[in-house]
Amino acid sequence: MSEHFDVLIIGAGLSGIGTACHLARECPGKRVGILERRQAIGGTWDLFRYPGIRSDSDMFSFGFKFRPWNELKVLADGPAIRQYVNDTAREYGVDRKIQFGLRTTAADWSSEQRCWTVTALHEASGETRSFRASFLVGATGYYNYDRGYLPHFPGVERFQGQCIHPQQWPENLDYRGKRVVVIGSGATAVTLVPAMAPEAAHVTMLQRSPSYIFSVPGYDKLSAVLRRFLPEKWVYAMARRRNILIQRWLYIAARRWPERVRGWLLAGVRKQLGDAADMRHFTPHYMPWDERLCAVPDGDLFRAIRSGKASVVTDEIETFTESGIRLKSGQELPADIIITATGLQVQTLGGAELRVDQQARPISSLMTYKAVMMQDLPNLAWIIGYTNAPWTLKADLASRYVCRLLQHMDARGLAVATPRAAESALENETIFGALRSGYVRRASGALPRQGRELPWRVLHHYERDTEMLLRQPIDDGVLEFLPARAAPAKAAVPLAA
Ligand SMILES: Cc1cc2nc3c(=O)[nH]c(=O)nc-3n(C[C@H](O)[C@H](O)[C@H](O)COP(=O)(O)OP(=O)(O)OC[C@H]3O[C@@H](n4cnc5c(N)ncnc54)[C@H](O)[C@@H]3O)c2cc1C
Repeated sequence: MSEHFDVLIIGAGLSGIGTACHLARECPGKRVGILERRQAIGGTWDLFRYPGIRSDSDMFSFGFKFRPWNELKVLADGPAIRQYVNDTAREYGVDRKIQFGLRTTAADWSSEQRCWTVTALHEASGETRSFRASFLVGATGYYNYDRGYLPHFPGVERFQGQCIHPQQWPENLDYRGKRVVVIGSGATAVTLVPAMAPEAAHVTMLQRSPSYIFSVPGYDKLSAVLRRFLPEKWVYAMARRRNILIQRWLYIAARRWPERVRGWLLAGVRKQLGDAADMRHFTPHYMPWDERLCAVPDGDLFRAIRSGKASVVTDEIETFTESGIRLKSGQELPADIIITATGLQVQTLGGAELRVDQQARPISSLMTYKAVMMQDLPNLAWIIGYTNAPWTLKADLASRYVCRLLQHMDARGLAVATPRAAESALENETIFGALRSGYVRRASGALPRQGRELPWRVLHHYERDTEMLLRQPIDDGVLEFLPARAAPAKAAVPLAA
């Protein structure tokens, strides 16, 4: 007999732990289990170990709403986030619900049994295990944990130095006094360059095209002052509210007045780098928020460039050579270590296959319902966060919605909830909508779809999502419910003669 859970969560990163904590708070009677492929809690913040690894969202809005982030560092480093997720799991007792080392490979819904059967591979032993769940929550993040994205670089096999992808950072990599080239222009590249520059001989950031980079304060001075008079919990709530609003305004302004916001962002770079700035390396070809912006704390990247220990080159790679990289312009970049910060490979539900009554349901053919559930998939939620704001803001709303849905069903004796769509609702657009980042473009064939209008449209808007997920009625005519089956009648006990 396989173990049966009321709610089974796949993944013990920020989203899985957040969902389990919400269930512990709001649905305490539920038997909850978590399957995690790795041997530790934390997901992204356990996997990535490169120097300087940190969030590029402020922790007041990236942290859980229900558990204050009590440090004053605005962009936290990886180990601190890992610790925060671990502490949260322990505080709510959800760490005891995790079964580690299990990679979920498939989930099968049976309409007859009204539950999911989840198949998981115990990777250390090669053994297959199976679990049953009335409700399934995918909290597997959005990328392939086995490997990052690596484009084909001509001549890569000729290079005599070390070539490293940030997703597989070797423990104790010694880069002291070495010439390092970091290929990429995203959040990982702009984090690595200032982190490695002090010890390396020189770090060159090699990009094909520039990104928007802006400096944010490393410490929250206002919260530091407020903490002298007010309880930490209040200060956290205020900082969180303030930062959510600032980010929202910045996003709206960027969509409404792209040229003005572009001008403001570029002026910020000029201010940081002074008159000597070669703005070709910092002037993107697209408008702000067509791709994610890169935040750097206290301008650390610009400081590294000013110090002469780091530089930026914008060009294309012709070939790797024995001793570095030759660019299309003819320039040679000598390197002892090349880091390919070329991004992630998008993957949904950790690569697990979904079937309903033995029929395969590829997620890329389905629309998301309220960006939480999936069209025609009964009792299933997929927790994804924002890409234009801190991930956790949306992940938090999604898990609270799951709790509301379960409470609604329990109160009315309902067993199954399935979002049903009219065919005309489908729009051939992925859930990431307007975002044109490389990993989103590459993955458009694998991502779930969104519809023309609500509840099939993905809002990417915290206030509107809050209204839709936490305040609007659960029963909206789109979710189809099935009642719980009556328990089989007990056989009558014959009366004694
Ligand atoms: C380097 C880096 C920095 C980032 N910085 C930010 C940031 O500053 N702000 C922001 O908003 N977002 C950021 N992100 C996005 C980030 O992934 C999310 O913010 C957040 O950490 C996602 O949490 P999650 O729990 O949803 O997914 P993850 O952190 O990816 O965790 C998923 C978990 O599911 C497990 N899992 C996956 N597949 C399976 C399977 N088949 N079976 C069992 N378990 C499985 C994984 O092992 C993992 O533990 C960053 C991403 C990266 C890669």
